[in-house]
Amino acid sequence: MTTDDGLDAAALARFRALLVAEAAELEAAERDTEADRAPVELDQQSVGRLSRMDAMQVQAMAAAQSRRRAARRAAIRAALARFDEDEYGWCQLCGEAIDPRRLALDPAVARCVDCAGG
Ligand SMILES: [Zn+2]
Repeated sequence: MTTDDGLDAAALARFRALLVAEAAELEAAERDTEADRAPVELDQQSVGRLSRMDAMQVQAMAAAQSRRRAARRAAIRAALARFDEDEYGWCQLCGEAIDPRRLALDPAVARCVDCAGG
């Protein structure tokens, strides 16, 4: 089977497993950093040795990371949905097979290298 015929069942299963594992990792990271994203309290005691400015910086960085994780989770959800539609591994723009080496770098990619560049 050539790449032009799309991915074989083993490759599909492998990419799907990678996506499911990454989604679980992102969820765990989101849970573990929940406290970091909580609004900074006015009460100095509540932030311990960190100054309020430091605490706000930590909170802002945690919020930015959380937004990146949310975007990544959305991309993974969309990729997983493509398995159900039998569209996984096919470019969502031109319909050509996505190079498996490209999927190996990022199993959530939705476009072939030609379409991603444009
Ligand atoms: Zn394409």
